Amino acid sequence: MANARQSASHGANHNGSSSGHRMAGKNAIITGAAGGIGLETTILFLREGASVLMCDISEPALERAVAIAKKAAPHMVGKVETAQCDVSKEAHVKAVCEQLDSWGGLDVMFNNAGIMHGDDADAVDTPEKIWDLTQAINVKGVWYGSKHAILSLRRHSKTCGSIINTASIVALVGSATPQLAYTASKGAVLAMTRELAIVHAREGYRFNALCPAPLNTPLLQDWLGDDKEKRLRREIHFPMGRFGEAIEQAQGVLFLASDESSFINGQDFVIDGGLTRAYVTAD
Ligand code: NAD
Repeated sequence: MANARQSASHGANHNGSSSGHRMAGKNAIITGAAGGIGLETTILFLREGASVLMCDISEPALERAVAIAKKAAPHMVGKVETAQCDVSKEAHVKAVCEQLDSWGGLDVMFNNAGIMHGDDADAVDTPEKIWDLTQAINVKGVWYGSKHAILSLRRHSKTCGSIINTASIVALVGSATPQLAYTASKGAVLAMTRELAIVHAREGYRFNALCPAPLNTPLLQDWLGDDKEKRLRREIHFPMGRFGEAIEQAQGVLFLASDESSFINGQDFVIDGGLTRAYVTAD
């Protein structure tokens, strides 16, 4: 297992020794940029020539994250700035999109901020306020981000743009661990992204949804600890025998954001090591 994890993080190559041009000249907004997937994506975008506005609800987390990003992308040719933004508030989302007017407008919007609340449960036990909070951030946040990205692209007469919305594999397969508000919210992200992709295709604006499998986060690793049985019960479901890494999601986002994916639109872009394709039985 250690080898699989090592090879995933080798792919990250975040030592700043190489840089590219896959995002040269592009301006990007990333929401939830202080978290796992958002920060890894920020680093890749910067290293590939983009300018990035990192947005997050947490200012202290943003400060820590931007310092890490600058260190990991020392040869960046674009710029990186931060903005405190609660994606469930339209005025915040509008403001960050307008902040990019002085950069020449946005080219890429990564609507990635999302929560899975600890009190999220099944149909009987999920509190209404948790349901509403989850939809406000995970669904309305993506709507506002998509809306103001479209308005920015139009304002600057752009003929192409890429919007990537983070969903989850739980939008595709039922989760055995109840988290009904989260699951419903991610299903809405998939459906919304698909319609946006079709409605705005003739304008040159592509919309794709990212569907990550559960990731190897510090929280998860702490929770699993040394309990081998607990770990195996989860890892058995992964054909590759391991959880995914945030950098492996970021690599997919980079592709969807760049012009390399110019004919990819309206897709549920699944990065899950084959999890949703598998029929796995324990030995
Ligand atoms: P994370 O918790 O590390 O990062 C999420 C970030 O979003 C945090 O920095 C948080 O401060 C920020 N945030 C929370 N509420 C916000 C709000 N209202 N406005 C702006 N920012 C807000 O999580 P992550 O793993 O990087 O997850 C990113 C996305 O990927 C989420 O949408 C999540 O649902 C999805 N996802 C994660 C996993 C996983 O296993 N980690 C699996 C599938 C999908």
